[in-house]
Amino acid sequence: MLVAMAPDGSRTEAHRELHLDPGGYTCPYCHHPVHLKRSRVKVSHFAHAPGADCPAASEPESPEHLAAKALLADEFRRLGYDVILERPHPKYRRRVDVAVRVPGRSGPVFVAVEVQASAISTEEVIRRERADHAGGYLSTLWCFTRSSCPELLVMEPDVEFRVPEEIRFLHRTLSTQVAILDVSSRTMWLTDLARHRRSGDSWFDTAGNEQSSRGYSPRTLRSVERTRATFALQPKWVTPTKQRPRWIATFTPA
Ligand SMILES: [Zn+2]
Repeated sequence: MLVAMAPDGSRTEAHRELHLDPGGYTCPYCHHPVHLKRSRVKVSHFAHAPGADCPAASEPESPEHLAAKALLADEFRRLGYDVILERPHPKYRRRVDVAVRVPGRSGPVFVAVEVQASAISTEEVIRRERADHAGGYLSTLWCFTRSSCPELLVMEPDVEFRVPEEIRFLHRTLSTQVAILDVSSRTMWLTDLARHRRSGDSWFDTAGNEQSSRGYSPRTLRSVERTRATFALQPKWVTPTKQRPRWIATFTPA
């Protein structure tokens, strides 16, 4: 994790504030001691003692996940957004990776930006979105990384690849482009699974329903439409499947 509590009660971010390491940090969730791990190759972060019984320590974060969160926080701040990294919501068993404050219709509102660097069940996607809604967030903005689906960043011509269920699910329910962050080049991409160049058929129809188009098995693709995006957030009005229409936030096409 990137954030710990300093002895004076302030939130300290491992990747940007610790030129000196005075020690005495505690976990914001379980309040047990955590120590700073510095690394030349990985993003500096905090770690519990081995075997710690803490919800924040139960899912080890990959270097890519840590780097993606730090990168997003930096880029959002560079654009002038208020950011709370690893914002805890213990009531909902939830820790939002990057909470970003955006203008809302009746005052500022937070968007929950969720980095996904590993597989996740659609049930857990729904659970986190409901928790964020209950926690007062405008919406959950999912941001997948290279390890979620490498082929969405580096496409080999005519190589058919499987798109993970959670990415297809989000694309289908929201009928919107899915964000993929390339941490190594610090670039954000929006991928549109509904259109692909080779056959002209839709893999999903415009209502977001899955189609098994000619030459493609329903869960795989050979190419996707991909657009470079900025880290600026923009509002989008969506009609999710079996849900009320609502505003969400998306990254802005460059
Ligand atoms: Zn803890």
